[in-house]
Amino acid sequence: MNLSHGSRRGVFLDRDGTVIAEKHYLGDPAGVSILPGATAGLRRLRDLGYRLVILTNQSGVGRGYFRQEDVDAVHARLGALLADEGVRLDGIYFCPHRPEDHCACRKPNPGLVHSACRDLDLDCNSSIMIGDKASDIELGRRCGMRTVLVATGHEATETCRADVVVGNLEEAAAWIAGEAAGVLTTHDHPASQAAPAEAPALAPAASRSRLP
Ligand SMILES: [Mg+2]
Ligand SMILES: [Zn+2]
Repeated sequence: MNLSHGSRRGVFLDRDGTVIAEKHYLGDPAGVSILPGATAGLRRLRDLGYRLVILTNQSGVGRGYFRQEDVDAVHARLGALLADEGVRLDGIYFCPHRPEDHCACRKPNPGLVHSACRDLDLDCNSSIMIGDKASDIELGRRCGMRTVLVATGHEATETCRADVVVGNLEEAAAWIAGEAAGVLTTHDHPASQAAPAEAPALAPAASRSRLP
């Protein structure tokens, strides 16, 4: 599915287990902890000319564990921590729904990608998806992107068909820069997950957090 043909390249990043440490339903900004290699990797990707966009499923909102405002506060904290290191994100988009809501934006459905491509003039075919779960990789594949699985999440053994598997975001940036050719292992596991059926169109729109 290649519906998005903007003029810029983007790197789409999962949040939990990819940029910040995986916490169970994070609704508290104090719990934001940037993973090793993430700041350096993001800076390098930006230097390479990529827009940086975080896409995250936050079903804790739909489940009533925390509010949308709490997600925004977490993202403001994340943006501020990265800004302190000279890294600016172009957008953070999140799905607030539960799986049983069958929305169009919960990864691996492409709603968040389409919103970001529209807002930021991004082209899927020259973009890259980085995440720690099969659902992230599935999303990238559906949208025609190259895909990178990082091992910083708690599902480091995730079986999926990523173009490459790396240790963290810094290594991901190195692979994207083309400097790690021949060093990193390419995986193409046969036991990929089956593609879920297309979600019916329902659901309130995906949400974009305002950044500082
Ligand atoms: Mg994750
Ligand atoms: Zn959703």
